[in-house]
Amino acid sequence: MDLQSIMANHTLYWVLFFVIAIASWIVSAELERRIKKYSQVKLTMTGKEVAEKMLRDNGITDVQVISTKGQLTDHYNPANKTVNLSETVYNQANVAAAAVAAHECGHAIQHDKAYAPVKLRSALVPVVSFSSKIVTWVILFGMLFVESFPILLEVGIAMFALTTLFSFITLPVEVDASRRAMNWLQESGITDRETTEMASKALHGAAYTYLVAALSSLATLIYYILILMGGRRD
Ligand SMILES: [Zn+2]
Repeated sequence: MDLQSIMANHTLYWVLFFVIAIASWIVSAELERRIKKYSQVKLTMTGKEVAEKMLRDNGITDVQVISTKGQLTDHYNPANKTVNLSETVYNQANVAAAAVAAHECGHAIQHDKAYAPVKLRSALVPVVSFSSKIVTWVILFGMLFVESFPILLEVGIAMFALTTLFSFITLPVEVDASRRAMNWLQESGITDRETTEMASKALHGAAYTYLVAALSSLATLIYYILILMGGRRD
């Protein structure tokens, strides 16, 4: 099977990929719009202060809140126990910054409480990061030699399936971190009814980007499987 027949046989899939690309673009544009909008709504505490208070309130004393470069670079690093907030989130006092800061602390709490999906996700990290380095090449050569040497594509697909699994395990982890963030923001009185809703909308926007990424990964996986089946059938 050559590249031309792959493309002809899977027109539906090219349409699907196009739809996913558009969805992904809309979702990230919408997230950016929400973050921008809720950055205008001022609060009294900066992202850094919100994060430190949330950790303290949850009895976590060994996690540091630090500032990191870039935009939307916010993350929790379990290796050195740091909540990394982008400069704007770290320094500014508004609803978007509080939502992001609290969400990242949600991840710190998940690790502290040994939340099961997080443990599973952490266990997969080394395998996924290794396979993501070579999976594209394995699949590319696997497609070229699908008729004479199908095992290569099978191995590539197995590796890719791991990254797909990983992106789906990420979903409950992200939703749970946001849930912890929202509960605490409201309980602590940092946000009132109106601003809690805004924070929730900002975090929902972020969750959709993970959802689209997971679906896109699944669509790609099915596409590779179809190629493998087609190659075997020919
Ligand atoms: Zn997250």
